[in-house]
Amino acid sequence: MFTLRRISLAVAVGRPCVNVTVRSVNGARLGNFTRGFSSTESEEESGKAQNDVYDIIISGGGMVGTAMACSLGFDPNLQSKKILLLEAGPKKEMDKAPEVYSTRVSSISPGSATLLSGLGAWDHIINLRCKSYQKMQVWDACSDALITFDKENLQDEMAYVVENDVIVAALTKQLQTLSEQVEVHYRTRVVKYTWPRPYQVSDSIPWVKVTLASGQTLHTKLLIGADGPNSMVRKEAGIPTVKWNYDQSAVVAVLHLSEPTENNVAWQRFLPKGPIAMLPLSDTESSLVWSTSHQHAEELLQMDEESFVDAINSAFWSNENQSDLIEAAGSLFRTALSVLMPNGTSTRQLPPSVAGIGPKSRVMFPLGMGHASEYIRHRVALIGDAAHRVHPLAGQGANLGFGDVACLTQVLSQAAFNGKDLGAMQHLLEYETERQRHNLPMMAAIDLMKRLYSTNAAPMVLLRTLGLQATNALPPLKEQIIAYASK
Ligand SMILES: Cc1cc2nc3c(=O)[nH]c(=O)nc-3n(C[C@H](O)[C@H](O)[C@H](O)COP(=O)(O)OP(=O)(O)OC[C@H]3O[C@@H](n4cnc5c(N)ncnc54)[C@H](O)[C@@H]3O)c2cc1C
Repeated sequence: MFTLRRISLAVAVGRPCVNVTVRSVNGARLGNFTRGFSSTESEEESGKAQNDVYDIIISGGGMVGTAMACSLGFDPNLQSKKILLLEAGPKKEMDKAPEVYSTRVSSISPGSATLLSGLGAWDHIINLRCKSYQKMQVWDACSDALITFDKENLQDEMAYVVENDVIVAALTKQLQTLSEQVEVHYRTRVVKYTWPRPYQVSDSIPWVKVTLASGQTLHTKLLIGADGPNSMVRKEAGIPTVKWNYDQSAVVAVLHLSEPTENNVAWQRFLPKGPIAMLPLSDTESSLVWSTSHQHAEELLQMDEESFVDAINSAFWSNENQSDLIEAAGSLFRTALSVLMPNGTSTRQLPPSVAGIGPKSRVMFPLGMGHASEYIRHRVALIGDAAHRVHPLAGQGANLGFGDVACLTQVLSQAAFNGKDLGAMQHLLEYETERQRHNLPMMAAIDLMKRLYSTNAAPMVLLRTLGLQATNALPPLKEQIIAYASK
């Protein structure tokens, strides 16, 4: 079971390593660990030319790494720094949105939209393609319990649904305006990282050595690992990671709706095998994320289109998982709540029905959770899925990554302003502390939701039915939940 640890960090002044005391939630000390690299490779190239030495190398140009490159490139305090982005895949450019929607989309929070707007990418996203939604309805397939979040008592836009490729293309366009500040190499895979010695030795190069598949080597004062959930940076740095695979895979697809609607609601229903969600793409199309058992996911992929569409409609509409007992208890509780809090009830809306799917749009992803217990080491910082991977039920993975980008930029900008070594632990620790304080509670909440809703055992269903209804009846609590998820 995932538990929160309080991590107290003490900087060993003047040494590129850090003593970390890990405590359990009740404060008991679990152990001391020394931060820093335990093994290094002896360096023979101390006299090497300096033109392959960068101040910052970002490894991985997905949504988060590309945003990081833009964010550093635009920072006035980092203008004199030599920054490089390395991406194994091709450059993603887009003059206009492709006719067909991509299956990979993300629900982007207002906080992430603000970051992307500050980087000048949001205008490109709007010009390409994006759909906002103002309301969210989440309900339980095993009872009548539901919760709604809507714009009446919250901010204008709850979130935006954007294709991942559109986000990367918009950021890539902005990166092109930063060619003086940020060098970018596409189709360039890193195959090895070699760490500097924690204690500087006179004959060694004190930077991280990055070896490319071509055989070329580069050096950097700070390596930012943005290389996704299987991060090689994280693994090679030996950073301990808490991770497990869920017993679920997500089936994603582009859905054609039966008829045009305003389509400004995000729908999510918790089925016993996992949540099914429909995010708006346009008046006639939505995006499906259906998390379910691996076996069921395989079956969904194999079905002919008509059966697949029937399965989706039934998953949103059918009451086959409900029991009379839970229904009676839930209804009694709802009546009591409506007397106590007459403004705290929500009208149930019916989701649109699905008529078809986009061509070849069905894809499946195994789901898992992962958290690097350290986001930093001497001369290394992890961001995005390289540091944390979550279940998609709350649509938070990329949003957490964009939060990392904003925080790390601020910390590095301040370090540059103060003339400090960008790869030093002292200020990287600020990044780690701030982000773990935000990311860990969010990850714990997502994992708890996943577990709470992965059963149809009556006591659990009753517990979550009462909990969901009570939360729904408390608008201030709902506002706090949304404010937290919107960052
Ligand atoms: C079904 C599903 C639905 C989701 N929905 C949402 C949502 O609604 N909202 C949300 O916020 N999040 C969502 N997420 C999560 C989101 O997709 C991820 O959090 C996000 O893509 C992580 O981005 P990243 O840039 O950190 O990592 P990645 O996208 O994995 O990018 C890593 C990049 O690093 C490159 N790379 C890797 N190794 C190397 C190497 N050795 N050398 C050079 N380059 C390398 C790769 O080519 C890749 O481009 C969802 C995830 C899933 C699976």
